[in-house]
Amino acid sequence: MVHAPARIALLGTYPTLVERLDGLSRPGTALWVKRDDRTGTLYGGNKVRKLERLLPEARTRGATRLVTVGAVGSHHVLATAIWGGHQGFAVEAVLVPQPATEHARANLRAGLAAGLRPFPVRSVAGVPFALLERLRGGDAFHVPAGGSSVSGAMGYLDAARELAAQVRAGEMPEPDVLVVALGSGGTAAGLAAGLAIEGLRTRVVAVAVWAPVWALAARTRWLAGNCLARAAARRSLRLEIERGYLGRGYGYPSLEGERASAIAARVGLALDATYTAKAFAAALDLVDAGSVRTVLYWHTLSSVDLSALVAKSPATVDGRVARLWLSA
Ligand SMILES: *Cc1c(COP(=O)(O)O)cnc(C)c1O
Repeated sequence: MVHAPARIALLGTYPTLVERLDGLSRPGTALWVKRDDRTGTLYGGNKVRKLERLLPEARTRGATRLVTVGAVGSHHVLATAIWGGHQGFAVEAVLVPQPATEHARANLRAGLAAGLRPFPVRSVAGVPFALLERLRGGDAFHVPAGGSSVSGAMGYLDAARELAAQVRAGEMPEPDVLVVALGSGGTAAGLAAGLAIEGLRTRVVAVAVWAPVWALAARTRWLAGNCLARAAARRSLRLEIERGYLGRGYGYPSLEGERASAIAARVGLALDATYTAKAFAAALDLVDAGSVRTVLYWHTLSSVDLSALVAKSPATVDGRVARLWLSA
């Protein structure tokens, strides 16, 4: 099968910086960070590189309405609301409950202020029916959870190529290990595929944030295989799924995560409890273990200040949505 070249409409500015975290490096092991918190100016983080491929796909199909799904405080839903709205789409999301944290509440309020139309359900079991309802009509385009279709993940195949170019240009040494949070799989899958294509020997350690981890691992490997196929490449992947930092489960803060957040704050990195705190904890442990020279932590959380947007949202969030929080 011959694929038309993928359309990409850049929303962010690239390459994102790589920086050495001197304060957290050890004599034998350096800790570096890839600043994908600064992909975009309206909203950054890892969903931007996916939306750069998904929004043109929606437009090509003639869609005017994006329909997605996520936890009630999801970064993906927020990113889709902000960038989809910016590109002229109506944005709807089926929302499932998650533990209530300050950060997650702020995400929801920012999304509603950006024009998100919420369709709350009581549990994951209610998602398929609610999605089918919203997807009726030729004007709708389905953006999968986390933006992790193969097209979305291809944004991270290109991100790995961007990193390889930075390594070749001498901006940083070739990482022995790349650590990244693992949610819907597109980021880790695209990175592993892209690094393999570039011939880097970097291992991707993907830190699972939900269970069952076997399902997450299967999905991630499937995505990575399809990224390689779409790039017409046959390579073996260096991808490990790390299950040791999940704690109580999706959206629940963990002790190691909170400790990692406090350490990250000392070097100016703000982390979230669901994803990046758990991934950064794993990166710090790799530095402590000292068995490799270069650890690269891929920072996936937007650092754009949304306080103005949050302030614009109704102080009491939409009643139907407000009932969706679990006690943290
Ligand atoms: C979505 C998200 C991830 C996980 O990326 P996937 O491609 O869904 O695996 C990691 N970190 C943050 C901050 C995210 O919002």
